[in-house]
Amino acid sequence: MYPKLVCNINKMKHNIQIIKKLSDEKGIIITAVVKGMSAWTAVCQEIVSSGITSIADSRIANLKKLMHLDAEKILLRIPMKSELRDVVCYADISLNSELETLYALNEICEEKGIRHGIMLMIDVGDRREGILPEEVKAYTLEIATLQNLFIAGVGMNITCYGAILPSEENLELLVQCADEVASIIKYPLKYISGGNSSSFLCMTNSLLPKKINHLRLGEVLLQGRETETGEILSDLHSDTFTMEAEVVELKWKPSLPKGRQGVDAFGNKPNFEDKGVRKRAIVAIGRQDINANTYAPFDPNIEILGSSSDHMILDVTESTENIKLGSIIQFHINYEGLLSLSTSKYVEKEIYHEGDEAVLSILSLS
Ligand SMILES: *Cc1c(COP(=O)(O)O)cnc(C)c1O
Repeated sequence: MYPKLVCNINKMKHNIQIIKKLSDEKGIIITAVVKGMSAWTAVCQEIVSSGITSIADSRIANLKKLMHLDAEKILLRIPMKSELRDVVCYADISLNSELETLYALNEICEEKGIRHGIMLMIDVGDRREGILPEEVKAYTLEIATLQNLFIAGVGMNITCYGAILPSEENLELLVQCADEVASIIKYPLKYISGGNSSSFLCMTNSLLPKKINHLRLGEVLLQGRETETGEILSDLHSDTFTMEAEVVELKWKPSLPKGRQGVDAFGNKPNFEDKGVRKRAIVAIGRQDINANTYAPFDPNIEILGSSSDHMILDVTESTENIKLGSIIQFHINYEGLLSLSTSKYVEKEIYHEGDEAVLSILSLS
């Protein structure tokens, strides 16, 4: 059944091995952030089998799916007050920034007789989650009174919202905050967490301050792209995940729509170039499954003309492949594409176990 999201597990394992080796050399503990593939259990199992001991996701529903994996579980998104019972059940550590939430967490832990770890998030400038550095002392003093919680770490998140890049200044600021926390709580912090895939190059270039011992890595691990410069790392695979969709209509048609023009299904007024009569394929996948502009056909001679909720329209005139009705078209996808595709229940998920070469040959336009 199509459409399909395919994971080349060997490529994934390769990425993990390389990153694990690099991070071990630099003394950095890696948490694998798996939210990009909606906590695909079989793939997550392989990640853990490859030596990753800590897994993170932004959604508690995903961590619940992964509860049987033998790894530490970290909840990345600041928890909702309405989900705290699940948080203490399915996460060992959660990222936090709100005292009110921590009071409630503490109470639930008290009731259940458990202790929950928190990573106190500091906003060092990206202006997404976290307390401000000048608030660290007051927050820590208060958290230290909550008997059923412990501060497992201090962390920062940058680049995702404000597009702020790691710098000596914001990394050092995190270390200062961590020192301040440690001096109050009087026990060592397990993690001083220097960010996500945008801090990857700082790690490999030895630019992380010594005290930073942890990164939370998603995109670079899943698709080989570090997000400081946006480069694909030459040692890593970016095509760990690919999309396959099936041709349901193949016809020669004029390239210009005909009739009185209003707006399309998404309220846009499209423009068209008259290229005469072209060979067009409709493939059975749409914006309900994958966001627009997040994919590219393997075949460089195929042009994407557009998509609506359930249809994708391709110009296949220039393709030298023998495309027919029922042919499977393969696409590269980026991180955003992976995110939407893995979330869609209409998309089949499949793992390829063959070697790297074998997978290239699945471009079987039968
Ligand atoms: C998504 C996320 C990450 C991972 O980000 P990548 O850029 O994919 O490495 C790390 N930390 C938090 C808090 C996140 O939400």
